[in-house]
Amino acid sequence: MVARSALLYLSKREGLKDFATKFSPFKKLTTRFVAGEDIDEAVGAIRAINATGATASFDHLNEGVSRADETEEEVREYRQILARIDETGINSNVSIKLTQFGLEIDPELCYRNARAVVEEAARRGNFVRVDMEQSSVTQATIDIFKRLRAEFDLNTVGIVLQSYLRRTAADVEDLLKIPARIRLCKGAYNEPPEAAFPDKRDVDANYVAQMKVLLSSGVYHGIATHDERMIAATIEHAARAGIAREAFEFQMLYGVRRDLQVQLARDGYRMRVYVPYGKHWYPYFMRRLAERPANVWFIMKNIFKG
Ligand SMILES: Cc1cc2nc3c(=O)[nH]c(=O)nc-3n(C[C@H](O)[C@H](O)[C@H](O)COP(=O)(O)OP(=O)(O)OC[C@H]3O[C@@H](n4cnc5c(N)ncnc54)[C@H](O)[C@@H]3O)c2cc1C
Repeated sequence: MVARSALLYLSKREGLKDFATKFSPFKKLTTRFVAGEDIDEAVGAIRAINATGATASFDHLNEGVSRADETEEEVREYRQILARIDETGINSNVSIKLTQFGLEIDPELCYRNARAVVEEAARRGNFVRVDMEQSSVTQATIDIFKRLRAEFDLNTVGIVLQSYLRRTAADVEDLLKIPARIRLCKGAYNEPPEAAFPDKRDVDANYVAQMKVLLSSGVYHGIATHDERMIAATIEHAARAGIAREAFEFQMLYGVRRDLQVQLARDGYRMRVYVPYGKHWYPYFMRRLAERPANVWFIMKNIFKG
């Protein structure tokens, strides 16, 4: 728990970010979780994922953007991704972060940028998932999502909710009324106990409870986890409630539990792999290290091996 908090704290340190992104042995090790620095490398990774029977979600890494012109570059990048998906015929949708589009600069700028990407996806018959970030932006993220969802249909834009947040049961109920397609995950940020359950058992219990609500809603949702207990609970609930395998999808991260990704796809479950790429990998990479302390030892061993 201490190691997790420390790594999440370091994920926000600019100084370490500059060092890590310039230190080539460290950079090489990111390839376990990051598909590459440009679109072509991500397309290659997605082709390999599609060959296993799984679909994908493109993610251009960048978050907490503080310059308006940089947010416009992000819109251009996502337009390009959506075009490349069509040109190459790969099976993928896209995931975006609203702080990448200017949520912390000006919510109106963010809305316009996100809207441009969702409009492009609608034109191409694709789908945009709005990732969920730290709790300081949860409400603002939901507000912008609702505006987008009022303009675009269920199968064009969806959102993410995190089972570690105390507010999530109420958000699930609220968003299902619209309705909305939801990706359920546990949550990856450092949160105060007022906002998030400090005890992992509560996070897991809330995950199972919200998974059941989502699956029984009749809307197509994403069950995003590598936790075998959460996966078993989902499979069991679906079987017991007579919910078809095609009525939901499992989702996992690039480079995490590939064995399970392939196995679930082989067993006839829908599987989507989240494929991040880009130069701004540092905070994403640090969150992946924080999720499993053993990853840190793997990295250290490889750095000292040279
Ligand atoms: C598709 C997808 C999208 C996501 N989107 C968001 C989002 O928008 N917002 C957000 O806050 N979080 C997001 N997350 C991250 C999520 O919140 C968790 O931090 C992450 O998935 C770890 O939780 P877990 O459910 O796998 O369970 P955990 O209890 O953390 O892990 C269960 C087991 O999975 C394996 N595992 C988990 N993580 C790793 C890792 N990094 N390396 C190696 N093994 C690992 C280990 O075997 C571990 O014992 C997303 C996750 C996925 C899969």
